[in-house]
Amino acid sequence: MKILVLNAGSSSVKYSLFDMSDRSVLIAGIIERIGEDSASHRYNLGKADQVKLDIAGRNHQQALQVLFQTLSACGVLNDRRELACIGHRVVHGGEYFCEPALIDEQVIERITEVIPLAPLHNPAHLQGIQEAIRQTENVPQVAVFDTAFHQTLPDYAFRYPLPNDLYTQHGVRRYGFHGTSHRYVAGQAAHYLGKPLSETNLITLHLGNGASVTAIENGESIDTSMGMTPLEGLMMGSRCGDIDPAIHFYLGRTLNLSNAAIEALFNRESGCKGICGENDMRAIHRMAEAGDDHARLALAMYAYRIKKYIGAYFAVLGRVDALVFTGGIGENDPWLREQCCRDMTLFGMAIDPQKNQTPSRPCGNISQSGTRLAVLVIATDEELEIAVQAQECLEKQKRQVKP
Ligand code: ADP
Repeated sequence: MKILVLNAGSSSVKYSLFDMSDRSVLIAGIIERIGEDSASHRYNLGKADQVKLDIAGRNHQQALQVLFQTLSACGVLNDRRELACIGHRVVHGGEYFCEPALIDEQVIERITEVIPLAPLHNPAHLQGIQEAIRQTENVPQVAVFDTAFHQTLPDYAFRYPLPNDLYTQHGVRRYGFHGTSHRYVAGQAAHYLGKPLSETNLITLHLGNGASVTAIENGESIDTSMGMTPLEGLMMGSRCGDIDPAIHFYLGRTLNLSNAAIEALFNRESGCKGICGENDMRAIHRMAEAGDDHARLALAMYAYRIKKYIGAYFAVLGRVDALVFTGGIGENDPWLREQCCRDMTLFGMAIDPQKNQTPSRPCGNISQSGTRLAVLVIATDEELEIAVQAQECLEKQKRQVKP
């Protein structure tokens, strides 16, 4: 059984084709700069070297045509009917979706309805979905939502202390993001610990360009750091995370900045970039090693803010089986992991410096032997999680249709 996973952005389409019999990736690629003359397509086929081509990619229609031509030319998909389904990543499902959904007109309407909550992402996902439907007649399409995993948050965790109508009439609440990644590593962690996920308590840290932390109780998300938008929570590459909301009014009043300018400032010029001028963690380490004090401060702030959330989520959960690091930074930055776990013996947490340097892949336990709490480094795989969830959604649907 083959499943194609699509992640359609405004100017790019990322994809992976899975053979679900052994969950292997047959091909994975990205079509970038759609709409520009310099549109390009890069892909990896099994273990072969990456192929890069300049293409005519004026819109999503052409991008998907290129994609399917490539799958066929490479011999990984000779007929589109070989696809059991296409799994689409959708950033925002609002309160409608707590699990993946087989796409029909009502699902499309609901993804459209929550566009105001994800104005950059949902319209692009819809373009990808509509085009995939046109180009793969009769192939089921499944939407997998970043927000779905966090729909289990209790009201006292997802509500903001703001007037009720802002929630009831305008949807102002915490939704949380990176749900597919948190859900995937939670499953892997439970498997590693030899426990059912439904009995496992975890704190999962997804640290990439965007970053979020989730408290998971008995396999369900009960709190998460990103909020109504992916701006809240941890300090990130270029996003500020938690700050006093009054800073917004102050900047408007004193610097005469417009809302749009403040939005851009908080999203693209803040976080690590705001403090040291750089958002790539590897470059920040190099700058710090070369003596750059701004880079040192960015690293110290980044780790400190994670540690505060870890402490808060320990308090929320009471019992924690494992702390999980994932994402480009979580998986690859031993210095940061050490800083986050330092002086935490009170919580039963201590990491082994050697294991921390070279954790086993794709799942390594870096805690000192004899400590109560496992500290795991787990490589996330959001594409595989989307494929698995899409497959489960199809099977569930088939069971419901049977008399
Ligand atoms: P995205 O959120 O876009 O998926 P990733 O999860 O790939 O991003 O994470 C990107 C971040 O991971 C960048 O800040 C990058 O510097 C960081 N990163 C990648 N490799 C390392 C490494 N070896 N050490 C520290 N940071 C790393």
